[in-house]
Amino acid sequence: MLSNELNAVVAQRIELAPGLLVLRVAPVGWELPAFKPGQFAVLGLPAETPRHPFADPDDEPPPKPGALIRRSYSIASSSVEREYLEFYLTLVRSGSLTPRLFALEVGDRVWLGPKLTGVFTFDQAPAAANLVMIATGTGLAPFMSQLRSELPGSRSRRIAVLHGARHSWDLGYRAELVTMQRLCPNLTYLATVSRPDQEPVPWGGETGYVQDLWTRRRLEAVWGCRPTAADTHIFLCGNPDMVDTMTEMLTAEGFREHSRSRPGEIHAEKFW
Ligand SMILES: Cc1cc2nc3c(=O)[nH]c(=O)nc-3n(C[C@H](O)[C@H](O)[C@H](O)COP(=O)(O)OP(=O)(O)OC[C@H]3O[C@@H](n4cnc5c(N)ncnc54)[C@H](O)[C@@H]3O)c2cc1C
Repeated sequence: MLSNELNAVVAQRIELAPGLLVLRVAPVGWELPAFKPGQFAVLGLPAETPRHPFADPDDEPPPKPGALIRRSYSIASSSVEREYLEFYLTLVRSGSLTPRLFALEVGDRVWLGPKLTGVFTFDQAPAAANLVMIATGTGLAPFMSQLRSELPGSRSRRIAVLHGARHSWDLGYRAELVTMQRLCPNLTYLATVSRPDQEPVPWGGETGYVQDLWTRRRLEAVWGCRPTAADTHIFLCGNPDMVDTMTEMLTAEGFREHSRSRPGEIHAEKFW
């Protein structure tokens, strides 16, 4: 396979809301390798691929013909389902790759890096530890992969998903998570919106940033106890400001940042 060959095809595209896309990509003529929930793939498109009309016009110099623009994307699909990879994408209007990914139609070709990698995986937490997964926007993707790969009800530990977005319509996978919560008594799903004043139907749920759910002790109210470093591992994904704020708050509560040399209970993936 040539290194720049468009070796995959768009199998499905679901536009959840303006600027939010679920994209399924299937390999053409090769098999997806095994991967762990939390890992990411690299998608690429030639620079001459047209941009989505909602995006800003290109102000970059004309590209070298055939050069690929490549970016990393967390896998949202289950690791036991290897027909395609699902990605949850947000449109960065001024960006290089996302305006082109958003313009793709079913059947269009795309480059998919044959290596699926990353250390933001859930096997870093002991099997008995409770898991708290905190995401902004499309930072939910690796958590969907974990929940879809190993259904929460199959283990005795508690699992919580805390998701923050601007509007209720930007809370991707909400119906799936609500259903999982009904089926799995050990799963808690808490969602918050930061612009409730823009909701056409009044939003009766939580408001503010996702970190406010933690400071308001919303999970403690459901679990009946405060998660501590002794019993819980925390996974943070998405906006770097959220990751930094949460890491600071959790460190003050006795959680430690995880690294290969120094194991800890805080695991983080920043998207930019
Ligand atoms: C390990 C990893 C996993 C990732 N997984 C996902 C994912 O599942 N879904 C997803 O939508 N993105 C994900 N990203 C971000 C992705 O790699 C790209 O950075 C993003 O899609 C923007 O690419 P672009 O070429 O359109 O913008 P670029 O031309 O690269 O411009 C990016 C700039 O836009 C700004 N920006 C604003 N919002 C965002 C945002 N949401 N993401 C990135 N930059 C932003 C930042 O200032 C950034 O410097 C991931 C990044 C990493 C490192």
